[in-house]
Amino acid sequence: MAWESIIGQKHLQQMLQQSILSKRLPQALLLSGSQGRGAVALAVEYAKTLNCLSAVTTNDSIASCNACQSCLQARTLQHPNITIVTALPPGRIEQMSDYKDDVIEEIKDQLAEISKDPYTPFRIGSANVIRIWQIRELNKSLSLSTLQQGRRIVIIIDAELMNTEATNAFLKTLEEPHDGVTIILTSWRPERLLPTIVSRCQELIIPPIADDEIVGELLRRGESTESEARIIAACCDGDMTVALEFIHEDVQEIRNDVITMFRSILRGRDFRLGIAESASLVAEHRDKARALTYLRFMQVWLRDARMLHITQSTMGVSNQDALDTLSKFAVAFGNANVDSALLSIDKASYDILQNVSINLTFTSLLMDLRTILAKGAASNRPSAA
Ligand SMILES: [Zn+2]
Repeated sequence: MAWESIIGQKHLQQMLQQSILSKRLPQALLLSGSQGRGAVALAVEYAKTLNCLSAVTTNDSIASCNACQSCLQARTLQHPNITIVTALPPGRIEQMSDYKDDVIEEIKDQLAEISKDPYTPFRIGSANVIRIWQIRELNKSLSLSTLQQGRRIVIIIDAELMNTEATNAFLKTLEEPHDGVTIILTSWRPERLLPTIVSRCQELIIPPIADDEIVGELLRRGESTESEARIIAACCDGDMTVALEFIHEDVQEIRNDVITMFRSILRGRDFRLGIAESASLVAEHRDKARALTYLRFMQVWLRDARMLHITQSTMGVSNQDALDTLSKFAVAFGNANVDSALLSIDKASYDILQNVSINLTFTSLLMDLRTILAKGAASNRPSAA
């Protein structure tokens, strides 16, 4: 890990380096954006650079040497100055050592994965909450001095996962700044943080990673073909972690299914049968993540069709390898209210996350889409259907 292995986000990298060079280090920093946009990668590299024993400096840049004792410790997230706080599994736990050995192993394994690749999906079993005992442990450790020179960095991953008790305890931590300590919160839903917490942090917003950079990274990793990488980049919302999850899906197959779905919507008399078949096709996997992937692909397909219809140009179209089919759809749905269709798909995503049945969600969505899209097709019966 080094600055150059962070995907995109050059502007943020410069800002973070500038804060080190100008010695204006924040007491608390909020990196608003998902792990997959680089929140954890940026936090770890910042911590590593601040602690490097022979950092390489120019007028406007500073980079860790990646080789000194401190860098080696930081790279494996085993640096005494770097503390990671993250959601952990539930249980009657009052300190880390209360966990059973296998849970502790799992936590260590996950941290090791993150240290190797900060874009790897971060998941520890059923972990979904940061609890007060973790903040108490943090406060205790901050009250003790470390022997190692450098700056102490606390990285709270997905800080919005602190429960109320933890949040209140953490607020006290923020109110009593410690010398030589920077607390970095990462949050992909900063609106869920207490305003009193946000106001005590210097906030940096992490924008989506550009599509081309996602494609480049997927190709560099040898994870997919260029056409697959393009589809993935279009659907991952600038989030490398989401992109990495997509590579395990058969994106071509899902895309073909999505095209079949749109066709089924526009069938004549037996459209109900087509919609029922499409809904059960998605539901049979009983996989929420896969269902959400379908929904994302549907949105990208509709956006592409609209763009093609309006601009009559294939530039900026994600589904470059399916232009023939896409242009038929562009003609078919050209005058439909695509925004309204996209909103219906958003609502379906929300329902899936709320555990509404996949079959029910897709059946109702496809019926809605039929109504919406058929209006745009009324004057122009689609040859794609
Ligand atoms: Zn170093």
